[in-house]
Amino acid sequence: MQAKKTANSRVSIIGGGLCGLTAAIRLARRGVQIELFEAAPALGGRTRSFFEPHVQQQVDNGPHLLSGAYEHTIALLDEAGASENIHWQDTLRLALWDESRGYFDLRPASLLPLALALPLACYAMPEHGFSDITAILKLARQLKQVAHDKTCVKPWLENMGINQAMQRDMLEPLCLGIMNEPLETANAASFARVLREAFANHKHARLGWFTRPLSEALIEPLAALALQLGVNVHTGCRVRSVQSDAGRVVMDAAKGKHTFDAAIIALPLRAAWKLLGSDEPVHTRRISNIHMWFRDMPALVYPFIGGIGTTGQWFFDISSQMQRDLRKNSDTLRHICCVISADDGQLHGQPLQEKIISELARMTGIARTPEFVRTVSEHHATTCIAAHPNQALQTGLINAFEAPQAGELPATIESAVQRGQEAANRCYIYLSR
Ligand SMILES: Cc1cc2nc3c(=O)[nH]c(=O)nc-3n(C[C@H](O)[C@H](O)[C@H](O)COP(=O)(O)OP(=O)(O)OC[C@H]3O[C@@H](n4cnc5c(N)ncnc54)[C@H](O)[C@@H]3O)c2cc1C
Repeated sequence: MQAKKTANSRVSIIGGGLCGLTAAIRLARRGVQIELFEAAPALGGRTRSFFEPHVQQQVDNGPHLLSGAYEHTIALLDEAGASENIHWQDTLRLALWDESRGYFDLRPASLLPLALALPLACYAMPEHGFSDITAILKLARQLKQVAHDKTCVKPWLENMGINQAMQRDMLEPLCLGIMNEPLETANAASFARVLREAFANHKHARLGWFTRPLSEALIEPLAALALQLGVNVHTGCRVRSVQSDAGRVVMDAAKGKHTFDAAIIALPLRAAWKLLGSDEPVHTRRISNIHMWFRDMPALVYPFIGGIGTTGQWFFDISSQMQRDLRKNSDTLRHICCVISADDGQLHGQPLQEKIISELARMTGIARTPEFVRTVSEHHATTCIAAHPNQALQTGLINAFEAPQAGELPATIESAVQRGQEAANRCYIYLSR
């Protein structure tokens, strides 16, 4: 009886990023009729690719790394038959570089338990020593005890007496990469949660990257699964308003008015507030990606390298990550992308590009002028962790906003998938009432 009730229900999902796609798949699997509305011409949201005519390639807005702890994402990609589009490290390896020490690695030995291998790997880095071992032990003890309040990572680490070398070479790169916030402003409780989950064991600690552009590796398989399950997708269709009326949800979208039994709002907080007519301020952080294409450029020593003390924080060798064989075609260019997380935007345009090109030249020892450069700055890449006001939604409207609170996961692929799943569950319970 209940299954019949939900099967006859029609649900609208607003937002065709990872969160909306996940919610659509989860509800369609349970027999609910789904209409998915996406404002942009294509699905994908912040995990999207665009065609770059200068190099005739699909290019991602920015490279996306996955962690072995992304269990919900991994399960979803398995379900969509897309797991082979990810390359996983055998065991964690963070390749790092700085001006004085050159290349070095954070690489815990896979034969030892991670709890032992990690402090030893830190100890083995140049300019590190015994104080790293005590620092890791202190950190491990504190991870479960950090208060879920506004405390930021920097004072939390300083209070524990974590040495500067550990902060600079391990914790800051991780904080910027995962939280998209510097140590000074990132929330300590959320960072502690990320560290707890990411360093639970060797399998979780390893990193993965896509071997094809995001649109092909991630979005097309998920969209294909959604279509196969009967989801109706409306791209280029912005939802202008949504509200409850006599137990139904009435939605005004670019292609007309629609009525549903419920609607899931799968949007970043900024877009959700705009849709609901709220002018609450929302703090977001920018990520800038400087894509560069070089002729006759050898591969980087590792597919991604963290720069310590550099403006460019991570240098990704996209050609290596995508396993492109440049030797087969002499005029194929090497694609390197430099990522600046939590970019304050003070340096931009030509001066920023020149700085990054010179850092790359010092890192590789090869000075080359790129054939082509494209900077993609995502101004609202992630919603900051904060005490976002809890706006009560009208009946039938289901909240899947990206609005992380202290102690919750930061805005990542995994948190988008989890939000989509949780919203689908709440929606199903609502329909079954
Ligand atoms: C450059 C960059 C690098 C990143 N790197 C990583 C990484 O390495 N690892 C990681 O885990 N995460 C990373 N992230 C974060 C990750 O991409 C996001 O957290 C995730 O994609 C968010 O998905 P979402 O579905 O919640 O939101 P979105 O992807 O923003 O989807 C929301 C969708 O809603 C649509 N929309 C907005 N308003 C309306 C409306 N009124 N009507 C209809 N549609 C609407 C938008 O067009 C958009 O497609 C990165 C993000 C960026 C920008």
